[in-house]
Amino acid sequence: MNNLGLLNDISLLPVGVYIQLLIRLKFIDDAIIRSNEPEEVLTYTYSPPLNSRFIIPWRKIKGKLRRLSLEKQRSFDIEKDCHLKDNLCLRCPVCFLFGATGETGAAKVSYNILSRVLGETFISTTEVSELMPQTQNAIDEKTQTTGQALMSIVTVPKETEFLGVVTLRDPTPEMASILVDNLERITRLGASTREWGRVETTIIGYRISDREELTAYDHVPPKKPAQGLGKISELGLPDVETSYKNLDLSFKSLLKANKLLK
Ligand SMILES: [Zn+2]
Repeated sequence: MNNLGLLNDISLLPVGVYIQLLIRLKFIDDAIIRSNEPEEVLTYTYSPPLNSRFIIPWRKIKGKLRRLSLEKQRSFDIEKDCHLKDNLCLRCPVCFLFGATGETGAAKVSYNILSRVLGETFISTTEVSELMPQTQNAIDEKTQTTGQALMSIVTVPKETEFLGVVTLRDPTPEMASILVDNLERITRLGASTREWGRVETTIIGYRISDREELTAYDHVPPKKPAQGLGKISELGLPDVETSYKNLDLSFKSLLKANKLLK
């Protein structure tokens, strides 16, 4: 372990060290929720004092984060054939971080990789003041004609902020560097860009612990802000290209040492 609590080496078995990053996502544009599309921002009613909030499910953010991480990895010429969902290689830094199932992967290997990147629902920092479902004519995807069905639309107003926590299990400096770099490159959410606003992503701070103790739920206003978080810059993380290349080498060595890769 280094002096800040990050691990020196990766391992297959869990060690029980967690770095948790408190993240703020801020919408620059209005974001539209269409009720008859796969929903990417929802609302949820918590007990007071939070009450009704917009929420973004973690799987949406994880999906975006993994795609960005893969693009970056390809730019460094590492396992360029690794693709979501059915063509995962199970031997690259992104598979190591985000997990993969051996049987369904392209590699047809016998092992699975549990995700080391863990997350939770992101919660808006302000209450949903008025939900105004509007009814619009839906456009038929095939014929591009309107009036096929009615749909309701809910808008997340621009400048709405969300808080969430992203956790990295058993982090080395290289793993943390890759995660931080790609988190900060989330500038748009969702696959169908038309429906989604641009976002700004800020890492407010981090905490290293032997368990997952930080959750946005405890710190969305009017609850108290999280105290005692470290600044990412203080971690002195290695640059992202070096991090991908070193993690690629160390993961492959680990697989070879365990006779999982020739
Ligand atoms: Zn892969």
